[in-house]
Amino acid sequence: MNLILLGAPGAGKGTQAVKIAQDFSIPHISTGDIFRKNIKEGTPVGLKAKSYIDKGQLVPDEVVVEIVALRIAEDDCKNGYLLDGFPRTVAQAEALDKIAKDLTVINIDVDLNALAARLTGRRVCPDCGESYHISTKKDDACKCGGKLIQRDDDKLETVQSRLNVYTAQTAPLIDYYTAKGNIVTVDGMQSIDEVYADIKKAIK
Ligand code: AMP
Repeated sequence: MNLILLGAPGAGKGTQAVKIAQDFSIPHISTGDIFRKNIKEGTPVGLKAKSYIDKGQLVPDEVVVEIVALRIAEDDCKNGYLLDGFPRTVAQAEALDKIAKDLTVINIDVDLNALAARLTGRRVCPDCGESYHISTKKDDACKCGGKLIQRDDDKLETVQSRLNVYTAQTAPLIDYYTAKGNIVTVDGMQSIDEVYADIKKAIK
């Protein structure tokens, strides 16, 4: 089972991805996480990606496509994988079609107007990747013992540009996959558990 989670920044892709990957025992491949790890480690890919990520722009297609192509060729992807945050452009989707088969796309549909508050209020754990929201999480202690932080690109200035980029470059993927007939849309404005229940129904 090869899955793609599609949705605007803040739609809940990461949260749902963790649950799906655990339940179905498939690797969770988040291009955003891969870039953040590379930035932390100061690799050449990290240095290149940082300049785009800090502005809320997309990293160039060729950089992302190469990373994903190498990752899905690894052994643990033989029985399926879950892509979170990739593809984000039609060019990336076309590149993926050349190297991947049997893709099922889950589109998490949310009201774009609600996303700025979701993103700016998000706090993440740099150690385990868990995310929280300040409306329900009042301290900065992660359940793993880590200290929660706000991602630099969740600051208000960058959030608007990420949402604009989504509308211009990623939302067209909904039509792209609709034409192929392999996309299911779930209502991402429900609770986390309700969204997950709908995703499970869509996968089975
Ligand atoms: P995310 O954690 O998925 O929101 O990704 C954080 C940032 O990493 C994005 O705002 C982009 O700058 C970059 N990024 C992640 N995935 C991609 C992708 N598929 N294509 C281009 N840039 C990406």
